[in-house]
Amino acid sequence: MTDEVQIRHPKTITHSVNRRLYRERAILAFGGKCCKCGFSDSRALQFDHVNGGGCAEVKKQAMKPSYYLQILAAEEGKFQLLCANCNWIKRHESGELKDIGKKTSVTMRIYWEEVRAGKRPAPKHKI
Ligand SMILES: [Zn+2]
Repeated sequence: MTDEVQIRHPKTITHSVNRRLYRERAILAFGGKCCKCGFSDSRALQFDHVNGGGCAEVKKQAMKPSYYLQILAAEEGKFQLLCANCNWIKRHESGELKDIGKKTSVTMRIYWEEVRAGKRPAPKHKI
């Protein structure tokens, strides 16, 4: 074993470090804590689209460092910093989860239809 430091691909380091730095910068710019309850552990802080509809955007862009630059550059009031609990509560109260529930129930209905038709094995454990 040598004392040499293993060098990762520079692009990988840059991407991951930039993402973390931009995220921390954006968190600080939004006050560093949940705007509802004051929770401040950055591991559980999330940027919320105040008017909803952010799930699709997050899926497309959350892993890119530029996502946090967009948050920093967005007009005031578009985003807010929430902890994970407050963000989920907001989604429940605003009805943002209705569509997700519909998709899940459709998927489960199709699953059980396939089990009844013998196209899928029945689950071995009791449900
Ligand atoms: Zn909170």
